[in-house]
Formats: sequence, structure tokens, C-alpha cells
Amino acid sequence: MQKPIYKRVVLKISGEALAGNKGFGIDQDTLNSIADQIKEIHDLNVEIAIVVGGGNIWRGRDYKEMDRATADYMGMLATVINALALQDALENREVQTRVQTAIEMREIAEPYIRRKAIRHLEKGRVVIFAAGTGNPFFSTDTAAALRAAEIDAEVILLAKKVDGVYDSDPVINPTAQKFTSLDYIDVLNKSLGVMDSTATSLCMDNKIPIIVFGINTPGNIKKVIMGENIGTTVKG
Ligand code: UDP
Repeated sequence: MQKPIYKRVVLKISGEALAGNKGFGIDQDTLNSIADQIKEIHDLNVEIAIVVGGGNIWRGRDYKEMDRATADYMGMLATVINALALQDALENREVQTRVQTAIEMREIAEPYIRRKAIRHLEKGRVVIFAAGTGNPFFSTDTAAALRAAEIDAEVILLAKKVDGVYDSDPVINPTAQKFTSLDYIDVLNKSLGVMDSTATSLCMDNKIPIIVFGINTPGNIKKVIMGENIGTTVKG
């Protein structure tokens, strides 16, 4: 039987991916389909840490009239809403999970403790990291890069609505070309919309490959885990 090529991964799920076609909030069918896909790789004994975004509810930088730090804290709270929804969907599928937040809210979830997170992973629990890095002016992509380095993950699976990285926006330009692989430095120099520069630099410095792929097609996470080249790989 074919085996996964990764043992420990960080799966970054953007808020947008949870909204499905609704464009805002959480679409239950989309959430269910994502949870099914996560269970599929969990059943293959892959250790999975998830970083969730919040853009389906709130994105700090979109609120120009608001104090940026305040707007960003609101964005971090949005990621907690998504984390709890994901936890619920996974536990409905008998997948054991723990949510850890970068901002303490003990009635809702555990605080982020690195060694505890690693222990959960070793015990086969899916760990969901919420509230980003806990700091304004950062993104959940940076949180994914940071957590991946901290827990020694082999790869970041960057799950998006689009199925990879293109040379222009494929929604606007039908002739946009998809890259199968890219260097970190190209992403930085060409300002390709893979991750923000802080997150990309962190991955480059720590040699963590990023695989960008579309999560809204069922079975895609498994394909990536099995080594199928379905999206865009970013490495050095
Ligand atoms: N955010 C933040 N610090 C972090 C992570 C997130 O301030 O470490 C805030 C920021 O306002 C961001 C929002 O939370 O816009 C939601 O996260 P993000 O935009 O990364 O979500 P995604 O685009 O992946 O849905």
C-alpha cells in the first residue's frame, strides 16, 4: 500500500476556504468536506497541526479607519471562531483534537504551549492553533511558518480556494499560468501572492517547503500527502 511521504505537517486553512461559495462566514458543507479530508489523512497516521485563518470573518488591514492593532486583535478572535468550528466538525468524525490559542482564553481552549502541542501530536490528536501569532501586524500565514518551525513540521500545506500559484490572478485573467514549483526568493522578488513576505522569509530561513493547493476539491489533502504534484511547491 502507498504510504504518506510526510509524518508531521502544518495545514494552513485560510478563512476564505471555510466560506465556500458564501464568501463570508462558515459554510457547513465546505467545513464538513474539509473535515472529511483531514480525517482521511489522520487515518493514515499523519501528525496534523492546523493553523486557521480568519479572513472569512475579519481581516485587520481592511479596516483602515480603525486602529490597526485593535482591528488585528479582532482578526485574531475571528480565527478562534473558525478553530472551534473545525474542532466541532473533526470531533463529530471521532478525530480527537485540541485547540491552542496564542492569546489565553482558558474557558475555551488551551493556551499555546509548544511541548504540549508536540505531545498531543505524538498521541495522534489534531492540534488546531488559533489566534495567529498572538501579535498584531502579523498574519496567520506567519503563524503557520512559526508553528511549523517550532514543532519541527516537514512541510506547510497551504490550503486555499485557488489550486496553486499563478503568474496573474486566474479569476481575472483566464490565460494565467500556474507554476508547479517556485523558489522562495522568486516569491519574494516577484511579490507573488503565495504568502506575505514575513511568512515566506521565515520559511526560507528555516528551509520549510510550502505546498499551495486547492482544498475545495475533495481528496486533495490526501493527494498532497501522498506526494502527488497537484499544486505549487515553494522551496529553496
Ligand atoms: N492576525 C494578526 N496577527 C496574527 C494573525 C492574524 O493580527 O498573528 C489578524 C489580522 O488582522 C488578519 C486576521 O487576523 O487579517 C485574520 O488572519 P488572516 O488574514 O491571516 O487570515 P486568512 O487570510 O488566512 O483567512
